[in-house]
Amino acid sequence: MAKLKILTAGDPLLKKKSEKVQRIDKKTVRLLKDMAETMYAAEGVGLAAPQIGILKRLVVIDVGDGLWELINPEIVKKEGSVMSCEGCLSVPDYEGEVERAETVDCVFTDTRGRRLAVSAQGLLAIALQHELDHLDGVLFIDKAQSIMPKPKKDPLAELAQEKKQ
Ligand SMILES: [Zn+2]
Repeated sequence: MAKLKILTAGDPLLKKKSEKVQRIDKKTVRLLKDMAETMYAAEGVGLAAPQIGILKRLVVIDVGDGLWELINPEIVKKEGSVMSCEGCLSVPDYEGEVERAETVDCVFTDTRGRRLAVSAQGLLAIALQHELDHLDGVLFIDKAQSIMPKPKKDPLAELAQEKKQ
């Protein structure tokens, strides 16, 4: 497995629409594994193939309860709305408030070629909408109602603070 380089906002590939995967082969499975490894190494909850420069409809997500590997995912139903604070591995220095559907039904193909469906809510629903946007060249900063710099974590400053207490 290999860690891949994550493209950041400003790279034209992030604005492109990705193509459907026509054939699921060993390369597809391997790419999904590499994407998962890249996501975990960057401590993200999701990664879409265009973020590593590959314009294919492939997404990995793990919101803390296991890995989802999604081939040609499509949201077929949306309900409700929620505002939440989102970040993105391709926009490392910022976060923003984005309005999303509260629950979504998503259909996708798994690595064995089976077409499956998932009804999602909470963080998984938000992650699905965020990652599927990447497949259409949309970043959260394109639809956020407010964008702010991420608080910088400075381990030394945190340590100094701890000692004072
Ligand atoms: Zn993202």
